[in-house]
Amino acid sequence: MKTKKTKTLPKTTREIDNGGVYKQSVKCGKKNCKCARGEKHVAYYFFTRRNGKLTKTYVRKAELEAFTELVTESKNRKKEYCVERMTDAQLIRNMNRLARERDLFIKAARGIYEGEFEI
Ligand SMILES: [Zn+2]
Repeated sequence: MKTKKTKTLPKTTREIDNGGVYKQSVKCGKKNCKCARGEKHVAYYFFTRRNGKLTKTYVRKAELEAFTELVTESKNRKKEYCVERMTDAQLIRNMNRLARERDLFIKAARGIYEGEFEI
């Protein structure tokens, strides 16, 4: 599976709800950098689905804390909203779906789908 890169962080809560912030080890591409010798840089990305496609967006250090907070808040809000209105069967289906999505994001975040990439 290919992960599409996007430049702008999501502005709608729907996109935020369906995604998460994950850490990746990356190479910057400079030949003399420590990362070229295996000591990679740490970068944060927001993974989500847009039009059914898995996308990731670089989260700048300056935005990291605030954006992560937004994601957590948004998810908590959604959880409360959903649980109130769901039947048991819906709840179980939803939990299974979330578990599958989470596995997918974790795999992508670990670079299993993409291997190594440069920023
Ligand atoms: Zn580097």
